[in-house]
Amino acid sequence: MSICCLIDDKYVPIYRIMWISALPHFCGSSQCQHEGDYEVRLEHGEVLWVNQADRDTALEALEMWQGGLGPVDDADEIDDLDDNR
Ligand SMILES: [Zn+2]
Repeated sequence: MSICCLIDDKYVPIYRIMWISALPHFCGSSQCQHEGDYEVRLEHGEVLWVNQADRDTALEALEMWQGGLGPVDDADEIDDLDDNR
């Protein structure tokens, strides 16, 4: 698959994504241009502000890039390892 995902009309290399916000931005500032947007933090403090659809696309791309495992519960993972021994 591509090493880039399309976020906010930009092809972003997935490995540059540090984290993605789970909740829409709210800071209460009347100056804020990003109320309700989701924050995608990149290396070097760069930030992309995206809508929920783009956030989900980015999350999916990240999970695929990690091998498609999705969120793993630590306890379950340890149980699985024990079963294999
Ligand atoms: Zn704000």
